[in-house]
Amino acid sequence: MSVLYALSADILGAGTELACVECAGALRPPLVYWVGARLLLFHPGCAAELGPHLIADAREATLAIAPEPHWRRRLIDGVRHRLKLEEALA
Ligand SMILES: [Zn+2]
Repeated sequence: MSVLYALSADILGAGTELACVECAGALRPPLVYWVGARLLLFHPGCAAELGPHLIADAREATLAIAPEPHWRRRLIDGVRHRLKLEEALA
């Protein structure tokens, strides 16, 4: 990920309407971008909010396929903790 500043925004094409892939809101530089299979653009706040979720979900998915039983137990503990937090907020 990187930051696209107003001075560099012309690489996206002058007059191009930009939208955040997280909230679909209109974007103006400075913005956060990622170039993978396609270009992803984010509001700085949306990128900051999404980042920890991506890391946590990637970790959870990795643990879910780990062959060692202690990783599955850790995953179950993590999911249980997350559900308790969600239930407390409901
Ligand atoms: Zn956004």
